[in-house]
Amino acid sequence: MTDPRVHEDLVATLEEAREFGWGEPADYLRDVQRRDHDALAAAVCTTDGEVVGAGQHDRTFALQSVSKAFTYAVALQECGLDRVLAFIGVEPSGEAFNELSQLDDGRPFNPLINAGAIMAQGLVPGDTLEEREQLLLERYSALAGDDLQVSEEVLRAEQVRADRNFALAHMLASSGMLTYDPHEVVQGYLRQCSVEVTTGQLAVMGATFASGGRNPVTGERVFEERVVQQTLSVMLTCGMYDASGSWVTQVGLPAKSGVSGAMLGVVPGSLGLATWSPRLDSHGNSIRGVELFRRLSDRWDLHVLRHREPLSQAGDDGATTH
Ligand code: GLU
Repeated sequence: MTDPRVHEDLVATLEEAREFGWGEPADYLRDVQRRDHDALAAAVCTTDGEVVGAGQHDRTFALQSVSKAFTYAVALQECGLDRVLAFIGVEPSGEAFNELSQLDDGRPFNPLINAGAIMAQGLVPGDTLEEREQLLLERYSALAGDDLQVSEEVLRAEQVRADRNFALAHMLASSGMLTYDPHEVVQGYLRQCSVEVTTGQLAVMGATFASGGRNPVTGERVFEERVVQQTLSVMLTCGMYDASGSWVTQVGLPAKSGVSGAMLGVVPGSLGLATWSPRLDSHGNSIRGVELFRRLSDRWDLHVLRHREPLSQAGDDGATTH
């Protein structure tokens, strides 16, 4: 049984974060998220498979860019590290998520900006768009331990403003990097962004990463440990758009955010933490989500780079472990 203080802490932190009520939801998702602008939810799943939620944790929202981490992991699992590295870099870009930018050799900077995410979609094996989507949905669902689906309503909103993503796919195609039709690759990318989850399901997806690729609720091994290590490494350095540097210094967790207001953080060996609140800051990160993470990282001592005494040497000087 999870300590009841986990739920109490989540509820208390949600109330603190509720104060941060400014910012706007992504304008192109206004119609889809019409009732939800002030929604606020958080959930934790531990590597023991215990899930604890607070706020509107049963409401669904689209993964959006959080999906980029999952598709990258699928590409790594299916194609191997060397092949994926030949097509997608692992360097923070320091630019906006949808910048038309490439490294000197033509590779996108990393898999968590749109260029790299579209490239990762282009590496997913399958003869047809349907087969590739089937594989992705299977893996996403295995990560969550639940049956996940695409929201057709979110997808329609995505398709209306996809010009930039088409431009990115054509940029990759013109460098000879895409083997599939660029329009199909963008369709696949938009569909992965439109997969809906609850914060509870997203927390389980994070806990599967925290458990080295084995879902702690179902016991199923979804990814090899090396795949998860690679994915978490780019989440740590590139997961929060062009605010990734301040994120690491302040919160210190591998994480990924999305324009729906979704956020996922992972504490390896310990837990997955998911939050949802649609109002965004100028980087495209959820304002309340960032506050929740900042506060919970302090409260639960989650920063993965903080110095901790080895267990055998921890004295009574206040050093804590998790
Ligand atoms: N589907 C969105 C896009 O590619 C996702 C953006 C995001 O969450 O950052 O524009």
